[in-house]
Amino acid sequence: MNSGKIDLHSHTTYSDGSFPPADLVALARAKELKALAVTDHDTVAGLAEAVAAGEKMGVEVIPGIEISVDYSPGTMHILGYFIDYRSNTLSASLKEIQGARNRRNPEIAKRLKALGVPVTMEEASTESGEGQVGRPHFAQVLVKKGFARDHEEAFEKFLKKGAPAYVEKRRVLPEEGIRIIEEAGGIASLAHPNQLGAATEEEFYRIFDKLITLGLKGIEAFSSCQTEAESAFYQEAGRKRGVFVTGGSDFHGALKPDVGLGEMGKWASLDYGLVEAMKKFIGKKGTV
Ligand code: AMP
Ligand code: ZN
Ligand code: FE
Ligand code: FE
Repeated sequence: MNSGKIDLHSHTTYSDGSFPPADLVALARAKELKALAVTDHDTVAGLAEAVAAGEKMGVEVIPGIEISVDYSPGTMHILGYFIDYRSNTLSASLKEIQGARNRRNPEIAKRLKALGVPVTMEEASTESGEGQVGRPHFAQVLVKKGFARDHEEAFEKFLKKGAPAYVEKRRVLPEEGIRIIEEAGGIASLAHPNQLGAATEEEFYRIFDKLITLGLKGIEAFSSCQTEAESAFYQEAGRKRGVFVTGGSDFHGALKPDVGLGEMGKWASLDYGLVEAMKKFIGKKGTV
């Protein structure tokens, strides 16, 4: 009953994935996933399409989101699961976040130009199609125009935090990110915790415990960007604190070509039982 493969972290063309929602769901079906969470960055624009495709194709689509929150020196992303993507409060909060992104993108283009790298806002926009523009779209253009060998090099040379074309964007605080998800009825889980860049295990637990007091209910122990040792550590952390141990590939299609849908390390122990437990939790609002 609880068996069945799942993937709780994926992106569509509405953020920086290369698959439109229906194509992503079709791929999930081909990979025999029983459930797929669609978690675009700071937007729910692809969810109605994804859910409809899921119903048609027999894949359970969990409406999700991935919110980038303010954190330094590393990166903190909060995943939200089972959110009410039609909520007006949610749309209003996301509109503000998207505004910050839209102000940042032309600034990235300006920096690139100043570096002698003519990549325009329009080119990045074209790359993103109908979705919102992010750094991976600039990376695509940089690669196409021969300024970087691949995505990784585009980030290293130009786009990553600390690189010359990196531009900060105003982000919501971690507590706001969690609150936005909770208000939309969802379960908040800490995405790829290794990207926090915590220097020690103690430091990690300090951050993790703080987030739990703010309403965090899960940790993404399994991710395509985490090693087996990291996965084991985060799995234990989640168990110790009694929160959901989640996982996902962080699939972006062609914008992260090395990562396949459903892939989060062959050591990942994740199955449909987690989805059932989460559904029970939001139904009851009990303890994890
Ligand atoms: P943005 O939301 O515009 O800040 O872009 C975030 C996206 O950039 C995420 O999906 C990451 O996968 C990707 N990204 C961030 N840092 C790197 C990096 N160093 N190398 C490759 N991709 C990255
Ligand atoms: Zn992304
Ligand atoms: Fe992320
Ligand atoms: Fe992601």
